[in-house]
Amino acid sequence: MTGTVTNWAGNITYAAKELHRPRSLDALRSLVADSAHVRVLGSGHSFNDIAEAGVDGVLLSLADLPSEVEVDTAARTVRVGGGVRYAELARVVHRHGLALHNMASLPHISVAGSVATGTHGSGIANGSLASAVREVELITADGSTMRIARGERHFDGAVTSLGAFGVVTALTLGLEPDYEVEQHVFTELPLQGLDFETVAGTAYSVSLFTDWREPGFRQVWLKRRTDQLLPDFPWAAPATEALHPVPGMPAVNCTQQFGVAGPWHERLPHFRADFMPSSGAELQSEYLMPRSCALDALHALDAVRGTVAPVLQTCEVRTVAADTQWLSPSYGRDTVAVHFTWVKDTAAVLPVVRLVEQALDAFAPRPHWGKVFTVPARVLGERYPRLGDFTTSAVELDPSGKFRNAFVRSALELP
Ligand SMILES: Cc1cc2nc3c(=O)[nH]c(=O)nc-3n(C[C@H](O)[C@H](O)[C@H](O)COP(=O)(O)OP(=O)(O)OC[C@H]3O[C@@H](n4cnc5c(N)ncnc54)[C@H](O)[C@@H]3O)c2cc1C
Repeated sequence: MTGTVTNWAGNITYAAKELHRPRSLDALRSLVADSAHVRVLGSGHSFNDIAEAGVDGVLLSLADLPSEVEVDTAARTVRVGGGVRYAELARVVHRHGLALHNMASLPHISVAGSVATGTHGSGIANGSLASAVREVELITADGSTMRIARGERHFDGAVTSLGAFGVVTALTLGLEPDYEVEQHVFTELPLQGLDFETVAGTAYSVSLFTDWREPGFRQVWLKRRTDQLLPDFPWAAPATEALHPVPGMPAVNCTQQFGVAGPWHERLPHFRADFMPSSGAELQSEYLMPRSCALDALHALDAVRGTVAPVLQTCEVRTVAADTQWLSPSYGRDTVAVHFTWVKDTAAVLPVVRLVEQALDAFAPRPHWGKVFTVPARVLGERYPRLGDFTTSAVELDPSGKFRNAFVRSALELP
């Protein structure tokens, strides 16, 4: 691989001594064993330097490895290679009459890179995408292979790992029987009088969107499984046209709305696999807090919306069920996640990111690891009660810090 590589958003040019796209696991193993500093690049959809190798490091893309998606219908699991994206995984799983429990807003992202940052969709009973993982296969610092299954030592650090445990060559995910989903969009839900718990629980997956120009939500997206009850939604009016969550963007990029039933993987993401997701020119931030704080957190944001709105394209509010990954932003607490799609202007956005972090501080927000944030390591440490277990495992599996880049060292205060 030659030349420079940027992330999807184009705000990060990854520093690296060398860039490689190995075509076999043996070649990958040799590269890992022979290099002092290694970082894997997934599909590059993070908005910060979490995937950066550093000027003396080797950046590896697994996209040219043979694509592995092996479904075990009897066990209801799928083993997926380290470079595979959700769009491909979902198509194969669906062909076998099975399903994932949830998806993020877009299927373009790699599975290994997504679970490494705690990526999630929505739904009060739905854990993050990492919560589906049953086993991790890793290449560790000396180039050897290691399998860590759920319940075994290190597992609760090895999935949402920020890439710090080694190169993930495969993940085994739990599946469930195939299901269909309908998407219903409503408009203009006021913040005043909002019963967040009830609204968030009306469907399998619920998203509220606001541009914070008014104290309320421009759109509400309900994703209902057809094997569950049709929700009553008396608080807002049904949309009269197909909508994109970013005002002014074409709805053709979005998955089918108006209650047309379809396969889970063509309804759970907001954006269609073969179209550009979101607005394309943007930065993103997201903060995950206890769900019990949702209404107070929304009012705290409403108090600063005059400063937030000018640099905002859209803000999405979702829920995530608690999980057990030590560095998952939804570790140990049922969560409300407040996401911001900002304009693509780092200088204008950063002061507003700091303001949002101050406004939400009372709710101990954990920033999404793959998005823009300024929360210092000392504060992150207070918000992750099992951080010590994570760093102990990371240092045991990788004593020389081969997989620890500047992001990981600084966020986790590791050598
Ligand atoms: C348009 C858009 C919409 C988004 N929507 C959502 C959403 O709905 N929900 C949400 O939670 N997030 C969302 N995100 C954020 C995104 O899901 C995360 O940033 C995710 O980590 C992206 O996966 P990736 O493969 O691009 O990871 P990358 O950014 O490439 O890498 C992320 C981390 O994973 C590590 N990594 C990747 N592959 C491996 C491997 N094989 N072995 C070891 N480490 C590895 C990297 O080193 C890095 O540390 C969105 C992003 C975009 C651009």
